[in-house]
Amino acid sequence: MTTAILGAGALGLTLAYRLAQAGQAVEVFERGGEPGGLAAGFCVGGTYLEKFYHHLFGTDRAAIALIQEMGLGERLLWLRPQSSILYRGGMYPMDSVGAVLRFPPLALPDRLRLGAATAYLKLERDYRRLEHVTASAWLRRWMGPEPYRVVWEPLLRSKFGLHADEILMSWMWARLHYRTTKLGYLRGGFQLLYERLVEAIQERGGRLYFGETVRGVTPRAGGGFDLQTDARRTAYDAVVSTAPTRLTFQLAPDLPADFRQRYAPGLAYGAHCVVLELDRQLMQPYWLCINDPGFPFLAAVEHTNLMPPADYGGAHLLYLGNYLPPDDPLFRRSDADVVAEFTAALPRLNPTFDRSWVRAAHVFKAPYAQPIVTAGYREHSPPHRTPLSRFYMANMFQVYPQDRGQNYSIAMANRVARMVLEDQRGSGPSSSNPSASRTKYSGRPFTSS
Ligand SMILES: Cc1cc2nc3c(=O)[nH]c(=O)nc-3n(C[C@H](O)[C@H](O)[C@H](O)COP(=O)(O)OP(=O)(O)OC[C@H]3O[C@@H](n4cnc5c(N)ncnc54)[C@H](O)[C@@H]3O)c2cc1C
Repeated sequence: MTTAILGAGALGLTLAYRLAQAGQAVEVFERGGEPGGLAAGFCVGGTYLEKFYHHLFGTDRAAIALIQEMGLGERLLWLRPQSSILYRGGMYPMDSVGAVLRFPPLALPDRLRLGAATAYLKLERDYRRLEHVTASAWLRRWMGPEPYRVVWEPLLRSKFGLHADEILMSWMWARLHYRTTKLGYLRGGFQLLYERLVEAIQERGGRLYFGETVRGVTPRAGGGFDLQTDARRTAYDAVVSTAPTRLTFQLAPDLPADFRQRYAPGLAYGAHCVVLELDRQLMQPYWLCINDPGFPFLAAVEHTNLMPPADYGGAHLLYLGNYLPPDDPLFRRSDADVVAEFTAALPRLNPTFDRSWVRAAHVFKAPYAQPIVTAGYREHSPPHRTPLSRFYMANMFQVYPQDRGQNYSIAMANRVARMVLEDQRGSGPSSSNPSASRTKYSGRPFTSS
C-alpha cells in the first residue's frame, strides 16, 4: 500500500512519520519549498524564527510528546513571559489570577466577576454546554458589560472583524480552558522539529517532494487514486489531504455533491505578520494585545522577551500581527508601505522608538489561517473518512472546539494514522462514510468566502 499525503505541515509530516513507522510506503507533496507549513521558519542570525509567532502551552501534550520522541526534548524550554493588554496607553499584565485582580482599568467588583467567570471556564469540562451561545453574549452576561468592553470586545473585534458578535463561546472556552501561563518554545525554532520529521520519514523509506503542488486527485477504475502534480501523474492506494477543506474540495472533484454541500467550508481569515529585527528591546511584555483603537495591528509580540536576542545574532525580534479577510487590501499592499505604516505606530508602545532601530523587516502572509467559528461549525466539520474509499481529509479546520495549533494538528495526525492503518487491515468501519451522505444537513448554512 502506498499512501500519498498532501501537505508537509505539522499534520502531514506527523502522519507520514506514523505511517512510515508502521512499515507503510508514503509520499508527501508540499507546494512550498520547505517543511513546516504555517509553523515554518526563516533564518535570522543563523537561527530559525517562525514566520508567524509560535509557542506551546503546557496542555499541548501531543506536540510535547512528539518533540521528545524526535530527540528534541532538551531544546523545549518552559518560561513565564509577561502577557499584557494595552489599554488607554498603559500596558497591564493579564496573565494570572493576581494580575486580573489588580487590573486597574476595572473596578474591584468587575475584576472579581472577571476572575470568577474565568475560573468557571477553567473548571467547566463540557464545551457543548457553551456552543449554543456567542462569546459576546456569554462574556457580557457573566463577566459583565465593562470587562467585556475593556478586555474582550477589542480582542474579538480585531481578530474577527464583522464576525466578532457571531463567534461561539465554545471557541473562547477552549482558549481559556486549555491555555497556560507557562509557554513552551523549541529553542532554535519549531523548524527543527519539522526537519527532524523529514529525516525520520526518509530513514523509513518515505519520499517527500517540495515545491510540487497537487492539482487534482481522481479515483481509478480499479481502486486507488491518480494524483496529478505539475510534474507527474502517479497512482496511489490511499490519499490524505491536509490542505484546508475548501482547497481539498477543489482538488477532488469526485467528492459527491451532498457531501460538499453538507461540509461546505465556512469563513476563514488570513494571517498577516510584519517581523521587525530591532537593535534594542521595544517593550517589557512578550505578548501585547492591542486594546486601544487606531493601531494598524492587533498584537505586538516581542519574541526576544521569550528567547535571548543572542540566539539571533543580537537582533530583538518583534512581530506585528493581524487577522483579516483574505481579500483585505492589506494583503495586496507593498511591504515597504505596510512596514512604514506599522513602524509609525510604535512610538505609542515606546515613545523613544526611532525608525533607525529597525535593522531589517519581513512581511509574511497566509490567506486561510484562522477559522471563524460560528453557529453550526461542529456539524459542518467534515469527517476524516470521506465517501471516496481511502480518500481522507485531515486539516486544522477540523480541530473544533480548539483554535488551530500545532498540537491539535499533531494529535489529529496520530488519530488519522490509526484510521488509515485500520482501513488497510480491513479492521476499521467501512472506509467510505455512509453516515456522511445519509445525514441531512439541518443547520444554518455557512457562507463561503
Ligand atoms: C499567526 C499564526 C499564529 C500561530 N500561533 C501558533 C502558536 O503560537 N502555537 C501553535 O502551536 N500554533 C500556532 N499557529 C497554528 C499552527 O501554525 C497551525 O495550527 C499548524 O502549523 C497547522 O499545521 P497543518 O499541517 O495542519 O497545516 P498547514 O501548516 O497549513 O500545512 C498544510 C500544508 O499543505 C500545503 N498545501 C496546501 N495545498 C497544497 C497542494 N495543493 N499541494 C501541495 N501542498 C499543499 C501547504 O503549503 C501547507 O504547507 C499559528 C498560526 C498562525 C497563522
